[in-house]
Amino acid sequence: MAKIQMTTPLVEMDGDEMTRIIWKMIKDILLTPYVDLKTEYYDLGLEYRNETDDKVTVDSAEATKKYGVAVKCATITPNAARMTEYNLKEMWKSPNGTIRAILDGTVFRTPIIVKGITPYIPTWTKPITIARHAYGDVYKNTEMQVPKDSKCEIVCTDKDGNETRSLIYDFKDSAGVIQGMHNKDKSIESFARSCFNFALDTKQDVWFATKDTISKKYDHRFKDIFAEVFEKDYKEKFEAAGIEYFYTLIDDAVARVVRSNGGYIWACKNYDGDVMSDMVATAYGSLAMMTSVLVSPDGVYEYEAAHGTVQRHYYKHLKGEKTSTNSVATLFAWTGALRKRGELDNLPELMGFADKLEKATIQTIEEGVMTGDLAALSTLENKQTVDTEAFLVAVNERLAKMM
Ligand code: NAP
Ligand code: MG
Repeated sequence: MAKIQMTTPLVEMDGDEMTRIIWKMIKDILLTPYVDLKTEYYDLGLEYRNETDDKVTVDSAEATKKYGVAVKCATITPNAARMTEYNLKEMWKSPNGTIRAILDGTVFRTPIIVKGITPYIPTWTKPITIARHAYGDVYKNTEMQVPKDSKCEIVCTDKDGNETRSLIYDFKDSAGVIQGMHNKDKSIESFARSCFNFALDTKQDVWFATKDTISKKYDHRFKDIFAEVFEKDYKEKFEAAGIEYFYTLIDDAVARVVRSNGGYIWACKNYDGDVMSDMVATAYGSLAMMTSVLVSPDGVYEYEAAHGTVQRHYYKHLKGEKTSTNSVATLFAWTGALRKRGELDNLPELMGFADKLEKATIQTIEEGVMTGDLAALSTLENKQTVDTEAFLVAVNERLAKMM
């Protein structure tokens, strides 16, 4: 059988520890036998980031801008322990943070749903995709503890030196705390565009919610910008695609989400997204089944798994022991990227391959063959726990029949 051809390279960002092992297995067992894989390779493993003073991370993000689609392996974000372990020159920043800053993107996280693993909210039969606005608000705040008898104001000085003041609180009765935070119209607009683009891409509704009844200027600005961007550039496209943009108050959104069947994108302000993404991920069962894609407002895509490098399993692997590490989210990062590449380059065969590989993966789990983390959750009667490599081989047995 002739291999499926690609025209434009995919930006490939390799990573660390157990996910780096899985990365190679996925390519060897499931991709290169079928696809004449064309990638521009960047080694984001910590050793090479250190060797290049982290330039490789910046280069990989620039390449993603150039080609439009990337697939990324999980990477170590250095901390004090990693400084010694890898003898680092510096405590390099999180690669995801660096890439996100360059692409100005929004991260969309979606659970992969399989029969036998019931969400804690059983009515969630379709995935809920969380989009978190990863800029500003309380994450870039300034706060102070203030003594009794202080008067606290917000002061804004414009370019001509004029001051506008507004009282926060006059602390006559007690000491207390104050906080100042900001967001930018530009960032909120980028966030709105990323959400609407991703909705068109995946044919799903967008829900957005803030507390605009209480926060009449700050949160209201989010509501207004979303509404303006939608009216101006997306309303007609949404109508044509048969999808909706729905705005409500955050309290109402939470109540509706719990009662829903899923199947939409939930756009969240920074703090709401931080909290709700953990709630949604837990409710669906396993972090190892959560995919993640960074979408820039101008339509550049970077696919990855939501989990980390699974360090504990890697140390087992180094000792020569078999591990049962779940490769599904990393595998779906590859299928997402290949499908998007196929769509942009008009390669139906490549898109079809991505569909088949996802189908073979889900079929494998639903037929009872799975890694340990899923076996612990699955309600299937005849299940078989397999090791990391055996799972991929089992997927390939099914994939081969579909090709
Ligand atoms: P982690 O790698 O996500 O793993 C935490 C635990 O979750 C694992 O020990 C394992 O539990 C379970 N788990 C996660 N993914 C799994 C999988 N695919 N299959 C089976 N079990 C899985 O998080 P971490 O241990 O906190 O972080 C390790 C490294 O990853 C850190 O250096 C961190 O900086 C990095 N990280 C990178 C990214 C990214 O690149 N996007 C994201 C998060 C963390 P058991 O040990 O109980 O089996
Ligand atoms: Mg969180």
